[in-house]
Amino acid sequence: MFRALLASKTHDGISTDIVEMDDETLMEGEVSISVEYSTVNYKDALAISGQADVIQAFPLVPEIDLAGTVETSSHDGFSIGDRVVLNGWGLSQTHHGGYAQKARVKGDWLVKLPESLSTKDAMAIGTAGYTAMLSVLALEHAGLDPSRGDIVVTGANGGVGSVAIAILSKLGYRVVASTGRPEEEEYLRALGAAEIIDRRTLSEPGSPIAQEKWAGAVDSVGSNTLVNLLAQTQYRGVVTTCGLAQGVDLPGSVLPFILRNITLAGIDSVNAPKEVRLMAWSRLAQDLELGKLAAMTHVVGLADVPNVVDGIFQGKVRGRTVVDVN
Ligand code: NDP
Repeated sequence: MFRALLASKTHDGISTDIVEMDDETLMEGEVSISVEYSTVNYKDALAISGQADVIQAFPLVPEIDLAGTVETSSHDGFSIGDRVVLNGWGLSQTHHGGYAQKARVKGDWLVKLPESLSTKDAMAIGTAGYTAMLSVLALEHAGLDPSRGDIVVTGANGGVGSVAIAILSKLGYRVVASTGRPEEEEYLRALGAAEIIDRRTLSEPGSPIAQEKWAGAVDSVGSNTLVNLLAQTQYRGVVTTCGLAQGVDLPGSVLPFILRNITLAGIDSVNAPKEVRLMAWSRLAQDLELGKLAAMTHVVGLADVPNVVDGIFQGKVRGRTVVDVN
């Protein structure tokens, strides 16, 4: 038997309960894992609150991330004792996810953790941090380097934003943090932000093309914010888009693309190919300072997850949350 947080559909929406499950309830896969840590991402908040139809089969153990140690494996790539991380794929949609002490999953979904990262570090990073790394890789892929100018990071106090600031500053970029929480300036500067701006300067409708300010941007907010970032990005600059904290709309124009040769790079973490994941995790081990990661992380238990979800929607959660499932 093992403990899990199970999501069920009720007349009022979705309820979550701590339950005991047995191995019979584990889903198909070649690898079974003793889960050590999990986390809470924005997408998990959407799933558990029912604000988005993330969970497609009830009852289901939610959570898109898990990290732990392999217990049994019939997959060539993994052996008993391997430390592994899983981000996305079918977890929390059709397959039991990370809010349980055990999981059985497809081996192709797993990545072996780099030596220098613990399973707790892996969940402090989580999908949010791995997506921040995917965003940095996209900036590099499009040719950016620190000599080109400032990079603005939106949703700065969030998981994607916090990790992106830490990585970009370590790589030598001058990072501008856009936030609705100016009272967190000290935290953001400690992560590596050189300048803090009020997110309201980006969130209202603006000109389709504006004064050039940024060499690039890592955006997890979308909507008017993303449109304004595009309008303010320098000639041949690069903007990444992964999120929708402000909204899913994109009410802009083609002018930044056709007049300034801007690149808009889409970022998807859920179905990213294996080689991209391996690259991202290897670069996280190299380019994210563990001291900064610890400073942006707090640890909770399984029973605390619903409170964290409420805090995310109230804009009260800063950085990353690790869930100790044991
Ligand atoms: P968090 O909840 O940790 O952070 C979101 C941050 O966005 C908040 O901390 C806040 O930062 C800012 N924010 C919140 N509401 C608004 C608003 N109305 N207008 C402007 N800014 C706002 O979420 P994550 O960092 O985990 O995820 C961020 C986004 O990225 C989400 O939309 C998520 O779904 C998406 N995402 C997408 C992935 C993909 O594969 N494409 C993977 C991971 C995440 P502050 O207080 O500093 O202003």
